[in-house]
Amino acid sequence: MMLCCRLKLQHIRPTLLVSRIYQPTSLRDVGQESRQGEMTCKSQRLMQQAGLIHPSNPGCYYYLPATVRSMEKLVRVIDQEMHGIGGQKLDMPSLCSADLWKTSERWDLMGKELLRLKDRHGVDYCLGPTHEEAVTTLVAHQAHLSYKQLPLLLYQITRKFRDEPKPRFGLLRGREFYMKDMYSFDVSEEAAYQTYESVCQAYTRLFARLGLRCVQVQADTGNIGGKLSHEFQLPADIGEDRLLVCGDCSFSANVETMSSDRTDCPQCKTGTLVESRGIEVGHTFYLGKKYSQVFNATFSNAQNKPSVAEMGCYGLGVTRILAAAIEVMSTEEGIRWPGLLAPYQVCVLPPKKGSKMDEVAVLADNLVHTLGEALPGLRGEVVLDDRTQMTIGKRLKDASRLGYPYVIVVGQGALEETPRFEVICQQTGETMFLGQDGLLDLLGRVETV
Ligand SMILES: [Zn+2]
Repeated sequence: MMLCCRLKLQHIRPTLLVSRIYQPTSLRDVGQESRQGEMTCKSQRLMQQAGLIHPSNPGCYYYLPATVRSMEKLVRVIDQEMHGIGGQKLDMPSLCSADLWKTSERWDLMGKELLRLKDRHGVDYCLGPTHEEAVTTLVAHQAHLSYKQLPLLLYQITRKFRDEPKPRFGLLRGREFYMKDMYSFDVSEEAAYQTYESVCQAYTRLFARLGLRCVQVQADTGNIGGKLSHEFQLPADIGEDRLLVCGDCSFSANVETMSSDRTDCPQCKTGTLVESRGIEVGHTFYLGKKYSQVFNATFSNAQNKPSVAEMGCYGLGVTRILAAAIEVMSTEEGIRWPGLLAPYQVCVLPPKKGSKMDEVAVLADNLVHTLGEALPGLRGEVVLDDRTQMTIGKRLKDASRLGYPYVIVVGQGALEETPRFEVICQQTGETMFLGQDGLLDLLGRVETV
């Protein structure tokens, strides 16, 4: 009976304790040393050290719980932006039939990057790196698709596979990763361009909400095909893409699309092009009828005659955005997240055990509950670093490494007549001393998703 009551109590008070969060920082193979010959980078090192990811086989990682929390937040932001432009989420099989890929001729064109396999009947399949074939077939199967139902924007956020010759840089170039891929179907070329533009605007809004500087550059259409294409690039030293950016106007292009020694801007004619490096986090393609023709994806037009749909496709590297954001925002010692994506927003630090401040520890515990009750947006976002056998200094160092946007130290000041808390805003590096009202006011403005 006693035991039963205790169990119940634990269920009523679900304080998130740092000691209980599965965020192993001492897994073997963690730290600077990576697998032989594999190139590493800041985000990979920081993510492994912080217990966010763990390497398995080349180009593949365990995404540990804090990473999954962060990714789920990113997915929610992406969903909001895609729904905002009329996108509808679906989920397509990862196991794709070779027949589809042979129809589009990409079974041969994709070469070794396509991960291929055979089932027990000897039938060929691939693990989908992208789904133009699959989605176009789906839409083609729909009899009586009316022009009134277009534009149709279908997207999914799923695991994708690519047989990278040299996986590297952690989540930036893996063989298995999460991608958002959207496909649009329109009645005309003009309508397709409008859809294309609205997706580009949604991408721009998304990166702005994450606080990431992103440039939209003209790009090569590669093996996806089509006439118009843009990449969304986060400027970063380790970026694998070389960009030419105009100093005077909005023009920017991938070096692949133009002669790399060109220095005059083709758009404004007066500006000078400067080369920089970027991490590609998004890609948009206007496809025209390339796939819809082949798979016969038609709709009935206003004259009730079948007409071939105009298509576009739009990718966002979900796991890559996470890693790239960490790459560009973090310091050498600690992760800094886009505020919206931090796995937890607040970490509360009670004093070290036995430091004659046990009553302060109770105050810290109470603070966690007060925050959770007063600020619904922070429910599930506040953790208590209960490892009180460690000094405040040591735990502060861990908190800095993990990058909680807000760290609250509950010390002597909490015992004063008007209690004060030390608050460290890790994104700005500011430290403040606030009473409970000031604290609620500050944290009440924290945006969560
Ligand atoms: Zn220019």
